[in-house]
Amino acid sequence: MKIGVFPGSFNPPTLGHLDIIERASKLCDILYVAIIANPGKFNGPFNFQEKQGLLKEICSMFKNVKIMCFEGLLVDFIKNENINYIFRGLRSVDDFEFEKQMAIANKIMGGVETLFLISNPAYAHLSSSLIREIGTLGHSLKGFVPDAIENLILKKLKSL
Ligand code: ADP
Repeated sequence: MKIGVFPGSFNPPTLGHLDIIERASKLCDILYVAIIANPGKFNGPFNFQEKQGLLKEICSMFKNVKIMCFEGLLVDFIKNENINYIFRGLRSVDDFEFEKQMAIANKIMGGVETLFLISNPAYAHLSSSLIREIGTLGHSLKGFVPDAIENLILKKLKSL
């Protein structure tokens, strides 16, 4: 039984995240989509419950995907949950240096491998910060976030 984890802030989830979740879920028996809840990390404006609700909504069709949350080091979460590997998405060379550093650190600390999935070119321009910026200004998020959660995200961003 191979267990993978796709960790992230998901603040909010985008079509780029969903694409990685779908592809990663086919490469393992169970995929944990793990929301990082570290106090030091930028966590606003979506709180953990909201992110969990959004992810549950868009992942309901993937029967082997479970939404989780963790605090602290990813390697500790991995050890506790008997996870075999980490999935991360790579959009461009801009992601690479940071991801390389994290992958090496996680390998040294936890002996765990990180598997990188190259972003679908249709979504390589998407980031949660871009979504927050566009949505806060009241523009439609069609083509940026899954249709099922567009209104929930817009409602939240417009209320800020
Ligand atoms: P973090 O703060 O941990 O990077 P994010 O929610 O921004 O959290 O990203 C989580 C993961 O999703 C990362 O591996 C990131 O590279 C990947 N990701 C984010 N946006 C996209 C996208 N548009 N296409 C593919 N992967 C993406």
